[in-house]
Formats: sequence, structure tokens, C-alpha cells
Amino acid sequence: MFEKLKKAFGGSKDEAAPKVEEKVEAAVETPVEAAPEAAPEAAPAKPRIGYIHLSGCTGDAMSLTENYDILSTVLTDMIDIVYGQTLVDKWIHGTYAEEMPEMDLCLIEGSVCLQDEHSVHELLEARKKSGLIAAFGSCAVTGCFTTFARGGQQAQPKHESFLPISSLVKVDLALPGCPVAPEVIAKAVVALCEGDLDYLKPAMDWAACDKGCGCDVLTNVIRQGLCTGCGTCALACPTRAMGFSEGRPSCDRDRCIKCGSCYMMCPRSWLPEGRIKKETGL
Ligand code: SF4
Ligand code: SF4
Repeated sequence: MFEKLKKAFGGSKDEAAPKVEEKVEAAVETPVEAAPEAAPEAAPAKPRIGYIHLSGCTGDAMSLTENYDILSTVLTDMIDIVYGQTLVDKWIHGTYAEEMPEMDLCLIEGSVCLQDEHSVHELLEARKKSGLIAAFGSCAVTGCFTTFARGGQQAQPKHESFLPISSLVKVDLALPGCPVAPEVIAKAVVALCEGDLDYLKPAMDWAACDKGCGCDVLTNVIRQGLCTGCGTCALACPTRAMGFSEGRPSCDRDRCIKCGSCYMMCPRSWLPEGRIKKETGL
């Protein structure tokens, strides 16, 4: 499963195919045997998906379950959820005694707290056990509102450093949003099952992103002369920090929770560099 994607991320390489002559020799040397009775066709293996809940609010998992029209098909016909504390009762307990299974894809919600040994261990273990890691929601992608955490609160006053997961492990896909839209999750899962790399290109491009802010729109789009005034950034903002007036967005930084949605949803934010230069004449 996900072979096309794994190759795109530098995964397993194909073994060298035998030459035509070798195939012919093998065919000649192999005695013809009576054909065995046809075995019943095995059902194709479904992708094994895990879900890990670090320092998040479970809003992204709830968003996944809000795909009412296709959820039962996805869960019964398309994927197997093999790991997770919320969706299945299988996860590493405090002692790390329970084994984490191999996974094709692991969705990781929430940022990682450096002072929480269990979270760090689970994240590192997930990287070893998963073909692909998806940062699931803005807390995992950019840190989002956990960016403002500074410790000092009971019952864990020492828990003060919350980082996007790409700070500790390589991330293959980023699904931003606070929370991620149910439709985005559904389309990404279907595209993953079908190996649709074109659809997933933006999610792959955002994988290395580790910060977000409303000022990204101002700095990287408007100041570059790329803004078309479409208003998508203001509509994407969950806190109305991104306003819109006189055909241009403006950010109220005191309301911004640093989810990165405005910039990542902007249709001008991921134009290829060559095209930007051509359009701006630089
Ligand atoms: S302006 Fe809104 S959408 Fe943009 S990063 Fe801030 S909170 Fe998120
Ligand atoms: S989404 Fe991008 S192009 Fe559209 S108004 Fe916002 S900054 Fe401009």
C-alpha cells in the first residue's frame, strides 16, 4: 500500500528486473507441472492507519469522524485503523510495554511537549514504525496555539516547550487547519489510497513547514505583489484574526493563534518560484 508515495519519499527501490534471456532460460529449465487448484483469491490488504494524540484537543479526530457520508466506507472497506488511544484501544501505555504495530500511515495530532517523555517516545517510535507520517492539524504542523505555552501551570508546571512534530521527526505530509476540514481529511485519505501524488503535492510541500502566522500572508504574498484579493485567507481564519477591507487582507496579531491556515490556503502561496519570477518580472 502507498508504494507510489513511499517511492516519492525515497522509500524502497524496485529490485532489478530479470533480462528477457534469463526469463526464457528459466522457462525452458522449469519442468511443466500440473496446475495446482486455484486458491481462493485473497482480499487485497488495506492500508494500516494509526492515530496518535499528542498535545492536541482531539478536534482533528472529531473532524475525521464528521465525514458522515463516507465514514463507514472508509473505515470498513478502505483502511484498517491499527493503533490509537481514541479510535481503537491499542496504544503504548506509560511503561512502553505494549508493542506499536507497523503502520502504512500514522496521523499525528497535536504538538510534542519536550518535557513529556512519553510523548517524545511515542513520536520517535511512530517514525520508526510508519511508512508515512502526516502532521494532522495545525498544532502538529506549526504548533498553533501551543506556541504560546510557557509552563508554570499545575499539575505539570515544567511542561513548557511545545514544538511542531517536524522539529523531532521527518514529516511526509501536512494537513493544516484548526481543525482540519472533514473534506480535506476524506480527500487526502482517498488520494493516499489511490497514490494520487498530484492531489497531495501541496500537503507534501507543507510537510517541512514548522511555523505559521497571519503575517506570512502580508510578508510572502502581499509584499511580493502576488495577492489577487480573493479573500480565501480571511475565510480560512478560525479566529477572525485575518480581516479583509478595501480588497486586501490585514492581520490582527493579538487574535492570531498561529495556525498557518491563511497562508497555506492562499492560492498564491505555493506558486512555483519560476512562475512567480515570470509573473512579477523579477
Ligand atoms: S491569521 Fe488566522 S488563519 Fe492566519 S495564522 Fe493567524 S489565526 Fe491562523
Ligand atoms: S488568499 Fe492570498 S491571494 Fe487571496 S486575498 Fe488572501 S493573501 Fe490575497
